[in-house]
Amino acid sequence: MKIKSYNIFAALSVVLVVISLIFYLVIKNNRLKEEESSFLKRITVSNSSIDFDKLIPLEKEVWDKFQKIPKNQYSSKYEEIAENNRVLLNLRSRQNIGAYILKKVLNSGELSPKARLFTLNKLRVLDATSGNIVNSIKLTMEYLNLAEELNSEHDIIRAKISLSSIFNSLGGHETSIKILQDIDIENKDFPNVSRTAISIYLYLGENFGFLNNTTEGFKYLNKITPLLKDQPESYQKNVLILKNLLEARLYLISNNKEAALNCLNIANPLLDNLDKAFFTDLENLRLVTLESYYLKYEPEKFSPTNLKNFIETSDFYGDITFLKIAFKLLFQHYYETNNFKDYSDLAKDYDEYLERVSVANNKVFSLYLIENIEHERFARENEKLYKNIAFLIISMVLILGVAYKRILYLDKKAKIDALTTIGNRLAFKEDINSLKSSNEYSMLLFDIDNFKKINDTYGHEFGDEVLSTIGKILKTIENKEISIYRVGGEEFAILFAHFNESFAMESCEYIRKSVENIHWKYPITVTISGGFSKATENTYAECDKRLYKAKGSGKNMIIYQDINEGDVK
Ligand code: GH3
Ligand code: MG
Ligand code: MG
Repeated sequence: MKIKSYNIFAALSVVLVVISLIFYLVIKNNRLKEEESSFLKRITVSNSSIDFDKLIPLEKEVWDKFQKIPKNQYSSKYEEIAENNRVLLNLRSRQNIGAYILKKVLNSGELSPKARLFTLNKLRVLDATSGNIVNSIKLTMEYLNLAEELNSEHDIIRAKISLSSIFNSLGGHETSIKILQDIDIENKDFPNVSRTAISIYLYLGENFGFLNNTTEGFKYLNKITPLLKDQPESYQKNVLILKNLLEARLYLISNNKEAALNCLNIANPLLDNLDKAFFTDLENLRLVTLESYYLKYEPEKFSPTNLKNFIETSDFYGDITFLKIAFKLLFQHYYETNNFKDYSDLAKDYDEYLERVSVANNKVFSLYLIENIEHERFARENEKLYKNIAFLIISMVLILGVAYKRILYLDKKAKIDALTTIGNRLAFKEDINSLKSSNEYSMLLFDIDNFKKINDTYGHEFGDEVLSTIGKILKTIENKEISIYRVGGEEFAILFAHFNESFAMESCEYIRKSVENIHWKYPITVTISGGFSKATENTYAECDKRLYKAKGSGKNMIIYQDINEGDVK
């Protein structure tokens, strides 16, 4: 009996050891895999986007300085390297030589975890400047991950602030506020705690501004001044610019013109003479704030060109919030000045913008999926955050989708004639332009006979009824081949996508006879005269010539052939 229980004990021990070994191997293997897939390893040091011959002097200076530092000194000079890069912060250059340098340092394998954390943070800021939002999320996550591993409270807070700023720039202001309000900054004594607090208050002020909540906005911005007193002058200058621009926005919302102008007058000269930037996007914030002010209070100074340039030079992957404001201001301006041509053109740009934003969103979303799979620990800890990201993206797509539909609706509405609900002159022009390349189309232009007399005898209201009834008849023949338009008061056009003489003649005669045979509530017969032509250099003029000829030849007829060939009915 005793021997037997020993055997069982031994067997169980062996099984336990084997199971532990398997677990150990699985975990080790997973760890290796996790390390392999670490984001940092996949941050590629590529110079494909950098043209070293085209560096501007400032970039060249930074690059030359960096090249003088041997690789084995990266571990001791990482702070100096990052500091040298700072001058590039406010450059809107696509080269991003600073990010390139930092990636090289990070991938050198020379850095201690602390140095990596530091450099990662700088890279995060630089990449955010270049407007690459997907990359900056990736880096911020990596930064947060490493900060948690090293248990650096200060860095964890910084990473959270950065995440909140990403939400802010994507339009997720509530989420951004929530992250910031969850950070406990009271009674902390890590280095630069005042600056961290200032950043939090600035972002809270900005977010509440975007939500039009001026009370909360001012509440947080007002907390900043007492924290500034021991800070170096250049930093104070940066904070003052940002604070005043944000306050100007809040005053604009609360219709306080003088106070808004006052803030702009403080921020403007400071920003013009700024040599060391601590915050990204100051220039863009100034642009949209200044133009908002002009549009509201000094419309003669409002510059659509500045905003259009901003939209054109944006790569659409970065700050969606400012772009949205720029579009909003332009739409408002065109609307107020009745400039429907530019309004409709802008709607097309907006269309493209939405498409690109959705590409960027898809990238963010795939990133979220990849993170979930590859970084399980991180994913679990930040599950809530990921859910928020997903939620934010979904709500953004929905919001933008609604805006998009509204634009489509407005665009469509602009091309429809209100009385007859068929296409109007604008729709006609656009459609004929798109048909021009094929040169296979043909066209009928017709005009109601003696319409003035109908109006004069039975009243305008009846005249309108005649127009809308003719619209209804035309609608019955509209199909893929035939498009119908009201191109003038009592003038209509029909576009046939192809030229088929017998089909066109049949259709035209059908229209003419249908109108002639309508029974009206008054004892009259309404007739039309028209000119038909296949596509020529100037089809419209050709049709018009024949229409005119029909009027002169007794009306109630459509002329199909060239006038010189002898007209036939
Ligand atoms: P013709 O046979 O040579 O075409 O003579 P007409 O009287 O039809 O031509 P004319 O161009 O002199 O008159 C067109 C009239 O159409 C003038 C204008 O009052 C009227 N009209 C234009 N738009 C509308 C509209 O929306 N509703 C009504 N009721 N009348 C309209
Ligand atoms: Mg007419
Ligand atoms: Mg007429």
